[in-house]
Amino acid sequence: MDWETRFLQSTPGEVIVNSKPREVVQSCWVGAEPEKHANVSLLGWTDSVAAMFGIQKTRHLEFAGQKIVNGMQPFAHCYGGHQFGQWAGQLGDGRAISIGEGKNQSGVYHEFQLKGSGLTAFSRRGDGKAVLRSSIREFLCSEAMHALGVPTTRALSLHLTGQKVMRDMFYDGNPIMEPGAIICRVAPSFIRFGSFQIHTSRGDFETLESLVDYTISEHFSHIKDEKNRISMWLDEIIDTTVEMVIDWMRVGFVHGVMNTDNMSIHGLTIDYGPYGWIEDFDPNWTPNTTDASTLRYRFGHQPRIALWNIARLLEAISPLVEDRSMLQEKINDAQEKMALSHEKMWVNKLGLKQYDEELVLELVELMYQDKADMTMFFRLLSSLSKPELHQLEPAFYNVQTSNHVNWNIWLNKYLSNTYDENRAKMNLINPKYVLRNWMAQLAIDDAEKEDYAKIELLTNLLKDPYGENHDFEKDWFRRRPEWALNRPGCSMLSCSS
Ligand code: AMP
Ligand code: MG
Repeated sequence: MDWETRFLQSTPGEVIVNSKPREVVQSCWVGAEPEKHANVSLLGWTDSVAAMFGIQKTRHLEFAGQKIVNGMQPFAHCYGGHQFGQWAGQLGDGRAISIGEGKNQSGVYHEFQLKGSGLTAFSRRGDGKAVLRSSIREFLCSEAMHALGVPTTRALSLHLTGQKVMRDMFYDGNPIMEPGAIICRVAPSFIRFGSFQIHTSRGDFETLESLVDYTISEHFSHIKDEKNRISMWLDEIIDTTVEMVIDWMRVGFVHGVMNTDNMSIHGLTIDYGPYGWIEDFDPNWTPNTTDASTLRYRFGHQPRIALWNIARLLEAISPLVEDRSMLQEKINDAQEKMALSHEKMWVNKLGLKQYDEELVLELVELMYQDKADMTMFFRLLSSLSKPELHQLEPAFYNVQTSNHVNWNIWLNKYLSNTYDENRAKMNLINPKYVLRNWMAQLAIDDAEKEDYAKIELLTNLLKDPYGENHDFEKDWFRRRPEWALNRPGCSMLSCSS
């Protein structure tokens, strides 16, 4: 794979590398320089991603920012965003540096981005670094999500920088030194909703237009209708965003920080921070301590937040649209699409003959009351032939005897609304293995003691999340262990990485 710089050639930006923190205007990007380290070592390498681009492992130092070769021109993206519902102004890549673009074997360009490789113009008071624990979490989860069929940025490599980084994990005045790391992630582009918002917020419609032009012609080149290109492009973003969020709901993933700067225009899951997986079913759960008081990004709220974010994107593009009523229609359509996709998800998840809202609401309530483990429950349900609650019992953290009658009523109703052939397909979309929060934490605990075997083990297990893999059952097809209930990193996470 050769390095290219299409984005830099086609959009306005600042070529001169300058990491002084500042407002960056009339620019989509700023030149940046990955920091050099004396003792970088390779911890993880995703062969399937490398193979997509024909990259040999011997080139790994390029993907840690340690070797700048011909054609590479590192830069940081400029973007803004709404954070927790408030406009936050300029944000930009403060701890990510893109090193260039390359074509995959099918001729499709992808951008390669290093997370944690040092200061950029957008680092504000941060250090531009990432710690090992959060890098392992992003490395493992990106690939786990890909195998689950959830659209996501990919992770090519994970390196240790050999340098320690200071972090105050819970912002409580107790900082410690942690190992620094860099992951190289890959996506068609790292353009976000906030990449457009920043220019509109400044009334800079010229830069906005050039970014929209570039994005459509390079990344949505199949749109040929000159007159309706913006409208068609927005429709695609809406469709892919809706599909992505419904996939999150299907597998029990909580992103944790659905700010508009963390929304990819390709409908990919992006920026793995304080994310988490639903275990005992609770639509109000969020893993993010920063969001503990408002629960804005709680599991059950994600579809509504995605719609809110889509509305912010449409506002950002509105200066380029003559017929503004078209945008209101798109919001209405998006709402309808979200509701329909969500219903379809339940039909497939349960193997139903047809959608039955009452049945779904009753199930959600029962799963919540009895703390059903989301992943185990649906797997066990798929093999249920008679309405026998005891077959589902391994999935419960707390079955209340008072609910036995309600479960029996529900199971009878459920089985009468399913086809055997639909239920046989349930295991294709209800995973048996997901990256439970404590699983990632076990890999992190070991890695901090320089034992990296669990990273490899989990990488292999999560490549086949729908398979039975009986050998792994005892350790990983199980409810959350007691020790993980209140353990930082398992039940609570912060944005600090
Ligand atoms: P995120 O939590 O990844 O969505 O980041 C939100 C914003 O904070 C982005 O502009 C990041 O670039 C910036 N940021 C987060 N951590 C750091 C860091 N360690 N150094 C510099 N900037 C950071
Ligand atoms: Mg982000």
